[in-house]
Amino acid sequence: MTAEMNVSQMNRRSFNKLVAKSVAVVPLAALATSLPLRAEGEAAMVDPESPTAKGLQYVVASENGDVCSGCLLYVPVEGKDHGNCSIFPGQVVPAGAWCSAYQAKPA
Ligand code: SF4
Repeated sequence: MTAEMNVSQMNRRSFNKLVAKSVAVVPLAALATSLPLRAEGEAAMVDPESPTAKGLQYVVASENGDVCSGCLLYVPVEGKDHGNCSIFPGQVVPAGAWCSAYQAKPA
């Protein structure tokens, strides 16, 4: 076995590792890039009457001083007064809404 073969084998191993990592990253990247598009173009507001919303005591306008915009799970949509929340995938919540899954952002 020559030094060139070792380099070639190493390059093949490196290439295979890179391909394996890329295959794992592509679906995550596609998911990450699809969320803002849905929020900006097609996403509907969470229906307060949906079973999940009712189960979490979701309200569109919080009256307890805690609001979605202060929640760790809230990801604002740029230029909008609503954002994404992982509790309600594919939908958006108003910045002033609230549910019982509220987690205060660290100060
Ligand atoms: S978990 Fe509840 S309070 Fe937090 S952003 Fe989502 S809906 Fe709002």
